[in-house]
Amino acid sequence: MRGDVLVLHTGGTIGMVETPDGHAAVPGALAPYVDWIVESSRGELPPITFRELDRPIDSANATPDDWLTVARILHDARDAHTGFVVLHGTDTMAYTASALSFLLPSFGRPVVVTGSQIPIARTRSDGRQNLIGALQVAAGAAVPEVTLLFGEVLLRGNRATKVDASGLDAFDSPRFPPLATLGIDVAVNHALVRVPDAEPRLVSGPLGQVAAVRVFPGFSASILVNLCRPPLQGLVLEAYGAGNGPSEDRDFLAAVEAATAAGIVVVVVTQCVRGTVQPGAYATGSALLRTGAVPGFDMTSEAALTKLAVLLGQGLDAGAVAAEMQRDVAGELTVRAPA
Ligand code: ASP
Repeated sequence: MRGDVLVLHTGGTIGMVETPDGHAAVPGALAPYVDWIVESSRGELPPITFRELDRPIDSANATPDDWLTVARILHDARDAHTGFVVLHGTDTMAYTASALSFLLPSFGRPVVVTGSQIPIARTRSDGRQNLIGALQVAAGAAVPEVTLLFGEVLLRGNRATKVDASGLDAFDSPRFPPLATLGIDVAVNHALVRVPDAEPRLVSGPLGQVAAVRVFPGFSASILVNLCRPPLQGLVLEAYGAGNGPSEDRDFLAAVEAATAAGIVVVVVTQCVRGTVQPGAYATGSALLRTGAVPGFDMTSEAALTKLAVLLGQGLDAGAVAAEMQRDVAGELTVRAPA
């Protein structure tokens, strides 16, 4: 029914129970709590339709097929609901939120991905507040984007990253301000919200084969050579600082060059939490980009990886994918005017 919010439970701590092995996802465990929270709000929260994936999972087990499944469900249900809440584990929440932003271009409805650090069945759970905030955002028209809500912030999904393994403010988007803060009021920064300018679309897959690798002192080129073999099509290289790598390591540069020559799209992001890749800032970074790798500017590693997978699955040639990776397609990247 149009007017309600679809709550899609994919798994994660929010609906987990304690087992001798630690927290684990159990089908059916979450629904009664969600129903009770909505019913006891006496109309303060929107009506919901609750749906659970056949097998809720710990998001550490999520795969790109799960991103495609969630995107398909949201796309098919788009016109029947005002907004969408995706309940998800925190471990790979930023990947799923990023992937959804690329799989559902111009969706034009709020899709709020959230979860919790403490199961909702526990008295001190953060799940209740996160769910309530997500329902309120999803029921409104102010933020028709894929977002990630956690604690007191609503972040653009493809800018978010998990920053705390145990704290309740577990997510941040250090390179982009929150789209809203949740204090006494939900204060939306309207100037930052993207308004769709095209018809909604579903990118149904398949997705390309991608990997992400962090550069570190002593990184052996042979690791890169072994990684950059079929079926790999795209690589996110998490470089130092402004996009720098070991330029005196000829084997390393040769391995990156061989990868790009073989048609693998190599995207350089920074392993720093803040800031951006700055082509030309350092000779060590220029050497890396001379191999044919392209700058991913201020994209998170999660956004770069999922965007690369989505683009590579669309049958574009490597040059076209490399160009798109340097362009802002869903608010994931800040385009800077040339200096
Ligand atoms: N391992 C859990 C998950 O990602 C962690 C969480 O949800 O907080 O599903």
